[in-house]
Amino acid sequence: MIPTPLDLTAMRRALVLADAAAAEGDVPVGAVVVDASGTIRGEGRNLREATHDPTAHAEVVALRRAAESLGSWHLAGCTLVVTLEPCIMCAGAVLQARLPRVVFGAWDAKAGAAGSMYDVLRDRRLPHRVEVVGGVAEGEASARLQAFFDVRRDGD
Ligand SMILES: [Zn+2]
Repeated sequence: MIPTPLDLTAMRRALVLADAAAAEGDVPVGAVVVDASGTIRGEGRNLREATHDPTAHAEVVALRRAAESLGSWHLAGCTLVVTLEPCIMCAGAVLQARLPRVVFGAWDAKAGAAGSMYDVLRDRRLPHRVEVVGGVAEGEASARLQAFFDVRRDGD
């Protein structure tokens, strides 16, 4: 699977949102939900520290906003574009929203649920399966995470 030009444009926006998360002390992860025409329907950045909410991952925030703006929990025809491979919770949220497609940046070998540790999005035991495009702008997404954690370690 290869990313479309619309995916790449959406990923640019997700990377900006990741930077905004880092500026507030959250792990830099950004996400957008785009419709079939590439229009952004919802945006999110990791807000876990900012809101003290363990579920406020960028993907969940973006899915909630997209559902609000579209007036439906059912996000058929939309794509989630996120800078980091979704975790188990976020992959679960993608299934709940019936998204047909996920595009992500950096792989997450320790917690990824879209092909690294788990493959929740393409588990044949589940009724809904998702097309996954991973490693899009991977270098840029990884560099942000690396820089964030490098600074944290220096501060210890
Ligand atoms: Zn997550």
